[in-house]
Amino acid sequence: MSMQNPVFIPGPTNIPDSVRKACDMGTLDHRSPAFARMFKPAVEGVRRVLKMSDGEVIVIPSTGTGGWEAAVTNTLSPGDTVLAARFGMFSHRWIDLCQRHGLNVEIIETPWGQGAPVSAIEAALRADHEGKIKAVLATHNETATGVKSDIAGIRRALDAAGHGAMLFVDGVSSIASMPFDFAGWGVDIAVAGSQKGFMLPAGLAILGVSPKAIAAMETAGLPRTFFDFNDMLSAYARGGYPYTPAVGLIAGLAHSIDLLESEGMDNVYTRHQRLAEGVRRAVFAWGMTPFASTADLYSDTVTAVKVPEGCDGTALVQLAATKYGMAFGVGLGEVAGKVFRIGHLGMLTEAMVLSGLCVAEMCMADLGWPVKLGTGVAAAQEYYRGTVPALALAAE
Ligand SMILES: *Cc1c(COP(=O)(O)O)cnc(C)c1O
Repeated sequence: MSMQNPVFIPGPTNIPDSVRKACDMGTLDHRSPAFARMFKPAVEGVRRVLKMSDGEVIVIPSTGTGGWEAAVTNTLSPGDTVLAARFGMFSHRWIDLCQRHGLNVEIIETPWGQGAPVSAIEAALRADHEGKIKAVLATHNETATGVKSDIAGIRRALDAAGHGAMLFVDGVSSIASMPFDFAGWGVDIAVAGSQKGFMLPAGLAILGVSPKAIAAMETAGLPRTFFDFNDMLSAYARGGYPYTPAVGLIAGLAHSIDLLESEGMDNVYTRHQRLAEGVRRAVFAWGMTPFASTADLYSDTVTAVKVPEGCDGTALVQLAATKYGMAFGVGLGEVAGKVFRIGHLGMLTEAMVLSGLCVAEMCMADLGWPVKLGTGVAAAQEYYRGTVPALALAAE
């Protein structure tokens, strides 16, 4: 049964049994004190995971895309300028969302496979003598290409240019799986979703919002209702919610953060690095390479595998689904067919990752790709054997 196989898509991710159980609850009156008691640990947990020192956590019944919309509509006015680099499908979609909201997006076109170009961002900020740029948008982990960006570097660029723009970070496929430092990086809005690193079903947009971003609401003229942070915060202050919350998902979120913190966030990050490195060893053993252009850009949550000339990455994904009941990610947009993606975030162990690599290899052999069965799996096995396993780390 395919439902028994782990998924290797970069979200939604595998859901631990205890998280599913935590989400499964009877109806709870969200105007009762019981809701406030349940909501508070979830909010406090998100604050710790994001490493916030001040500001607010906002949890909206939505998805990551709604988080993007909430970020811009709460803080900006029609015609405002934002600066963003485009280097994959997700950075593109956030730009598109801004344009549809009547924002003027100053776009730094960047080849797919590269990350947010810090020096070009700094140059654009330095050239903005009138301070027209109100926010810099950065996709921390470009899920389409398996590329991570240097958010600390973007903060340094803002500071070096002496520019007061806000910094908005899409951390949907990095938060809770890769180190994130809201306070240290001077992030003004961080956007996450429930169905990736938090290992929940889809249905929540999870945001960290700085005092500066909250202050920007006073003059922000874009229309907003459902996503209004002030409505949210004034209801929170009364222990409530401005409308019906996704109570089960919020209970699940508090539990998922318990799970992550009992493993230890640093151990969670190390586990993701190890799992990712094993996948990359397999990719190289197949004679292929990650799509990310340099090693410092490799994502620890998703690897886009560049497939050999004449091979079709989408065919592999389809065969894996139909013949072996296993899910990988297809290439999106301009890399459709040229890559397939292995998601390695959330609830995963070495053994689970090996099962994914094993099925990917069988598909390659079935499709006649120039790959010898067992080569990638063996490379990952050797790597996992020779380094400290995730379970041992968690038990320490
Ligand atoms: C998944 C993802 C999104 C979109 O999130 P949805 O929950 O599908 O709306 C946005 N950005 C990144 C980087 C993602 O990986």
